[in-house]
Amino acid sequence: MCEKDRLKKSTLFTLLAISLSLVSVAGAERFAFERYLMGTTVELIVLAPDRSAAEKAVERAYGEIERIERLLSVRRADSAISEINRSAGKRPVRVDEETYRLIQESLRFSKMSRGAFDITVQGMAEIWDFRRDGFRVPGPDRVLKGLERVGWSKIRLDESDSSVFLEKEGMRISLGAIAKGYAADRAVGILRSSGIESGIVSAGGDLIAFGRKENGKVWKVGVRNPRDHKKNICVLPASDRAVATSGDYERYRMVEGERVHHITDPRTGYPSKGCMSATVSAVSAMEADALATAVFVLGPEAGLALLEKLPDVEGIVVDAQGKITPSTGLAGTGERASKEKPNRPDSHPKHNTKGY
Ligand code: ADP
Ligand code: MG
Repeated sequence: MCEKDRLKKSTLFTLLAISLSLVSVAGAERFAFERYLMGTTVELIVLAPDRSAAEKAVERAYGEIERIERLLSVRRADSAISEINRSAGKRPVRVDEETYRLIQESLRFSKMSRGAFDITVQGMAEIWDFRRDGFRVPGPDRVLKGLERVGWSKIRLDESDSSVFLEKEGMRISLGAIAKGYAADRAVGILRSSGIESGIVSAGGDLIAFGRKENGKVWKVGVRNPRDHKKNICVLPASDRAVATSGDYERYRMVEGERVHHITDPRTGYPSKGCMSATVSAVSAMEADALATAVFVLGPEAGLALLEKLPDVEGIVVDAQGKITPSTGLAGTGERASKEKPNRPDSHPKHNTKGY
């Protein structure tokens, strides 16, 4: 989408900011806002004493998300990430502390997932650019060649001067699988420091809820069925918790009978095939975001095994045949899933916060 369209869309969403004005028990009203940022719709729901207090806090939170979008963009030539990519195979690049820490975190998730999560798959982004006119599924030779540019162990970090070096020419990184979660966490921090005690930040597939609803009950999140958007596969409680979903049903294109989507299996170089969707619930949205991508790539068995090893992390996976399997902490969630009430048509693509 070009900058002008984005601005138009962003303004439109701001104008559409809606107040649900529910009379509250605790004297706070619910206000909801939407804005197009980081390539997706970012929805903010806050409980505030009045609209003006809500708008003030929400403006600051959107400002922070915009800052993170600028900081981490692979498309902006002046971002540290672009400089790292341009310098691949040539020299290390000193970066700001925040970018450095996010790359460091990404490597932690790569190790944990035995390479299923790998920010260097960006090296294959051009090969799999299915939005391009005339896109064809690349042949095996091209995929193998592309894979030579992939490998998280070829990212060199130097703590002494906060520098990042991609060892091989042509290597590229992108923080797309973790950035929205990180931005959501940061937005919650801003809302809280602005005096908001309860709300939801939902950036595409990454959601984090804090505090309680007007009636004192915990926030709940419906997780969509990847093949029937009118249904949920489950409804998860989320209070001071994040829920992130990676799926093959939002950013994809059917080409020659194949579903080509945006998550690449770094081990094969092809769009990963094990899952239709992977949902992870964790304390931070960054962790949930990274793990959702990792589990999606690992597939139901290895993916759930990873979640079982991690403290205070749960998840639910829909495999390639549509079978729903929850982690042990959510046991029973999958079986109940199909009986849940459908999403409202105006609700969010991956998660539904309305009606609970
Ligand atoms: P979404 O952006 O739809 O929420 P994800 O959080 O799973 O989905 O992130 C997908 C993005 O992450 C892709 O657009 C791409 O930039 C990047 N990516 C794709 N495959 C991987 C992978 N195996 N590991 C890390 N990042 C990936
Ligand atoms: Mg992710």
